[in-house]
Amino acid sequence: MKIGSIGALFVWLMTFEFPFIVRAQDLGAGFTKVKDGIYVFAPDATTTTCSFIVTQEGVVMIDSCNSPLDSRKMLAAVKKVTDKPIVFLIDTETHNDHTGNHFIFSPPATIINHEGAGAAMRKEFDPKRGETLAAKSPDLRDAVQGYKMITPHIEYKDKMTIHLGERTFELMYLKNVHSEADTAIWLPKERVLFAASAANVRRFLNLRPSVVIADVLASYKLMKSLNPEVVVTGHGPATTTKVFDEYEGFYTLLLKRVGEMAAQGKSLDGIKKELKMTEYADWHDQNRLGVNIEAAYRSVKK
Ligand SMILES: [Zn+2]
Repeated sequence: MKIGSIGALFVWLMTFEFPFIVRAQDLGAGFTKVKDGIYVFAPDATTTTCSFIVTQEGVVMIDSCNSPLDSRKMLAAVKKVTDKPIVFLIDTETHNDHTGNHFIFSPPATIINHEGAGAAMRKEFDPKRGETLAAKSPDLRDAVQGYKMITPHIEYKDKMTIHLGERTFELMYLKNVHSEADTAIWLPKERVLFAASAANVRRFLNLRPSVVIADVLASYKLMKSLNPEVVVTGHGPATTTKVFDEYEGFYTLLLKRVGEMAAQGKSLDGIKKELKMTEYADWHDQNRLGVNIEAAYRSVKK
């Protein structure tokens, strides 16, 4: 047998006989396999992360990626790994960089998020999103074909457990941490936690006025108490609970500094002009320090 035909046989075996041994690097840049059958797609350090978990009864996806081009890569990756359908798509938040491309996966996927998610998505909905993306490039025009908003089919309250195949998914509502409906997903047997955007990876978060830093800190405590081995946040590559420690350190220092300055009678605007967090100068999205100071100021003024 010639080398070429051995190679062809190998590809044939991998594709048709052993699809379960597809390696993460075969799926493309940004894909990592964090545990057997659990794949995370983080296109880069700050772009929205989306993931999928294969079970004997079908696939569960977490978020549907930001760019429709990434969603199409995601769908291709799922198909490379399994011929089973995507049964559930769980949203970790409501913002459209996580929820805007549901149309690529649903049907067949049933979409799930906490109560209030659909209403928040409808409020944020930009009816021109499809056209705007399509105008950017021929690739995007193709990828966005069939675009429409799909809000969750199921909205749970506080907690929900899904049993699919051999796996269990525990959904937990995280209150006031990022959007109108934030869901963490815990796989207790695999010890993998999807932490929503309560934390990202070394990045200043865009804290909206509804975010309460005390609730964010409580969410870290709750999620650390699960003792996960792998933590996947809303943006950035898979990591560990060290991500919670880093943000705890950041918010604690921020609250302390803003609290001291407010106690000296400084105004919010004055604090925003003066305060630097030089210890975190290497975090992404430095321009969001202002909204972080605003959130801290709300907390200390309560
Ligand atoms: Zn968001």
